[in-house]
Amino acid sequence: MRIGFVGLGNMGSGMAANLVKAGHAVRAFDLSDAARARAGEAGCMVADSARAAVAEADVVVTMLPNGAIVERVYADDIVGVSPPAALLVDCSTIDVATARRVAESAQGYAMVDAPVSGGIAAANAGTLTFMVGGDGAAFARAEPVLAAMGKAVIHAGGSGAGQAAKICNNMILGATMVATCEAFALAERLGLDLRTFYDISSKASGQSWSMTSYCPVAGVGPVSPADRDFTGGFAAALMLKDLRLATEAAAAAGAEVPMGARAAELYAAFAEAGHGGLDFSAIIRTFQQ
Ligand code: NAD
Repeated sequence: MRIGFVGLGNMGSGMAANLVKAGHAVRAFDLSDAARARAGEAGCMVADSARAAVAEADVVVTMLPNGAIVERVYADDIVGVSPPAALLVDCSTIDVATARRVAESAQGYAMVDAPVSGGIAAANAGTLTFMVGGDGAAFARAEPVLAAMGKAVIHAGGSGAGQAAKICNNMILGATMVATCEAFALAERLGLDLRTFYDISSKASGQSWSMTSYCPVAGVGPVSPADRDFTGGFAAALMLKDLRLATEAAAAAGAEVPMGARAAELYAAFAEAGHGGLDFSAIIRTFQQ
């Protein structure tokens, strides 16, 4: 298939490379020269504009920083530029309302929102999980393309449902990470050996993914960013972005999300203190001070 790919950053570069490996002809564009060069090395045909990347595409994939940029790129460079039969797939994490607005503006095209779970390592390895919003026909077309970049492709519902699933999932992740961090910090103050506490709680009802797959304490549980001084992994600034999307969606829907809102406040303070580039599990430092 001819795939136009726009946004070759930390995530998009590995995703585009995996589409090439799967045998697709990928025409790729990013504003950054370095990102375009990297895509060329991975076997993509490098385009000199987003419009050139998508003009002859069967499928358009975008992986961009935020909703404002997604809306602008679809309005300026994709809708009316891509062939009318093209399938449009936005994998960026953006707010539900913008995702629905972009899909409406692309009327006549088949379109899905398909945000991902899994970080840069999963993007490179082709093991992302995609949560997909759109009608059944668009999902059926998107599924084999997304499967080349991921280990799971799940239809969440209609337009915007992929984004809704993503922000609800990440709100759980942010809140459970904060809870896990404060509990380990308290356990330490109470004189518990943290490996012993992990052995107990990982087999008891306090267990969660934040604890047993991503323990925020070095030398405890499986290898995680805590063992690398909180480098790599999922940046606290990105967790803050997702928590803000979740709390804004909750406000718009009239839903109470006290745990998500508190997690957002804690990550905002952490980022303001200059730690937004650290992995999100580094929030444990807030409770160790
Ligand atoms: P990134 O900033 O590394 O990459 C975004 C790329 O988009 C950059 O290379 C930038 O130059 C390019 N870009 C910006 N405006 C453009 C335009 N108008 N035309 C063409 N290219 C443009 O970000 P990322 O980490 O790759 O994240 C991308 C998306 O994936 C975000 O929405 C993020 O929330 C989401 N996400 C990231 C992770 C992660 O761990 N990094 C995990 C899950 C989801």
